[in-house]
Amino acid sequence: MKNFDINNIVRENVKSMKPYSSARDEFEDFDTADMIFLDANENPFQNGVNRYPDPQQSSVKAVLAKEKNVNTNQILLGNGSDEVLDLLFRAFCEPKIDNIISLPPTYGMYGVLSNLNNIENREVLLSTDFQPQVEKILEAVDANTKIIFLCSPNNPTGNSFTTESVTTLLEKFNGFIVIDEAYIDFSEKASWLAKIEEYPNLVITQTLSKAYGLAGIRLGICYASAEVISVLNKIKPPYNVNELTQLRALERLSNPEKIKSEIASIIEQRERLLKVLVDVSFVEKIYPTEANFILIKVDDANKRYDELIKKGIVIRNRTTQPLCENTLRLTIGTEVENKKLMEALKS
Ligand SMILES: *Cc1c(COP(=O)(O)O)cnc(C)c1O
Repeated sequence: MKNFDINNIVRENVKSMKPYSSARDEFEDFDTADMIFLDANENPFQNGVNRYPDPQQSSVKAVLAKEKNVNTNQILLGNGSDEVLDLLFRAFCEPKIDNIISLPPTYGMYGVLSNLNNIENREVLLSTDFQPQVEKILEAVDANTKIIFLCSPNNPTGNSFTTESVTTLLEKFNGFIVIDEAYIDFSEKASWLAKIEEYPNLVITQTLSKAYGLAGIRLGICYASAEVISVLNKIKPPYNVNELTQLRALERLSNPEKIKSEIASIIEQRERLLKVLVDVSFVEKIYPTEANFILIKVDDANKRYDELIKKGIVIRNRTTQPLCENTLRLTIGTEVENKKLMEALKS
């Protein structure tokens, strides 16, 4: 980070491009009641969604900024984290020249997006206890390494990365450290969000898809310095977060107690399931988890996966992932669903 300079990282075409300017960008006072809007070729008959949505999602950002104690200009919203991650590639990684580093076993989208964007994905395996191998990661870095993706808590392993390893990477690497915190609300560890002022190369992604219970509306969040956010803003599709999503997110965010109680219930169920798993004969290892899922090692993952399907329960077989031979990933469901899972496992 010592020599971090965003100007060395933003792609030249992004630096020089002129962003699309939408009608709603040029006249922002959308809520002015007595104005007549004849600027965007919309259908004038009101039905709740006949107007284009707010391209800057100001209302949703205002709520998130307050909740997370950041400024609204440190937030970018996307059509799921997937869009946010794709924007990071497109802003900072030059196809066929640049590379990124990811740490398998981890979330599959970093690899998919690097393929799609024609960016080399340098994979540095996690250690056997699923922590970043910091020395090896730094050895894999070269002048064209733009982003290191850290998923913490990590999917599918469930653990989070140590403060020391993340801090070392933030300090020694002069590109972006993207921390994917999709599962942070299930962890007792603090988010890295409080550090975005301290580290200009820190980018954090979160999502409403997991703890917030809104996978269906597709709302991903990126927190970073205002400088980074302004680059992403420049290249994002103008109306990337639709009106229904914005409304539904606001509604959900207005009831933080409900979200908190659902998270507490999922964590309670997780702890209960962890205890039951200890006594299941074919379970060989239960990995520590800070997420809403549990990774277990079993005698024969394919066999146990098929048996559960026959009992009407679908889990995720992770046996083909590196370091994950014969592992299964179980998402925490409702109390009733978990009971059925426990009965199925015992029989
Ligand atoms: C589920 C998940 C996401 C969520 O992606 P969305 O596009 O926001 O639904 C992001 N990162 C990881 C590691 C995940 O497991």
